[in-house]
Amino acid sequence: MDDFKARRAILDVVVKLENKGFNHVSTGNVSCRAGGGILITPTGGNSANTTPERIVRLDDDGKVIGGGVPSSEWHMHTSILRAFPVANAVVHTHADACVALSCLRKPLPAFHYMVAGFGGNDVRCARYATFGTADLALSAVEALRDRTACLLANHGMIAMGKTLEAALNTTIKLETLARQYLTALQSGEPVLLSPEEMERVGRRYGNYGVGLLPG
Ligand SMILES: [Zn+2]
Repeated sequence: MDDFKARRAILDVVVKLENKGFNHVSTGNVSCRAGGGILITPTGGNSANTTPERIVRLDDDGKVIGGGVPSSEWHMHTSILRAFPVANAVVHTHADACVALSCLRKPLPAFHYMVAGFGGNDVRCARYATFGTADLALSAVEALRDRTACLLANHGMIAMGKTLEAALNTTIKLETLARQYLTALQSGEPVLLSPEEMERVGRRYGNYGVGLLPG
């Protein structure tokens, strides 16, 4: 994707996240590969204060190219794009249900077959680390192994995809499932699908080419 198109596409995702109520003032951030480096939302960025020109360009190691201050979570974005070459875009939010579930520090289990769409039998919760640190980036990379998204303990969620649209869709699906799981928990203990059934579902997802299964 060319530079300007990518900047517009990132802003598009920021607007969509806000319209869904996933970001509160400026709590989320979005990045993608473009032009041999990485473009990322600026610190404190939201749809009201961010223009395409304010999107920050980084090299693959996170060094700012051409000015601007990147999102405080640039470590997490650049580490994920380095660790998973098949991914081209990353979306991080503090969407309500994901935050709530992340505070339990438990994975989203196989309570619904769509959990298989994230690559396995669950969506892991990354161990807690302070926001904006390289340690949080490491924790997220660990939790994303063979998955397209993870929860971040006492923080929120992060998703990656082959495209910005894919990372956004994964974000929306995870928030929806997290909300549904928390709703089910209020009425009892949800029955979990067996590993065999989740494998069957995973194969069907694979057959339909849904999602990104990082190697
Ligand atoms: Zn955050």
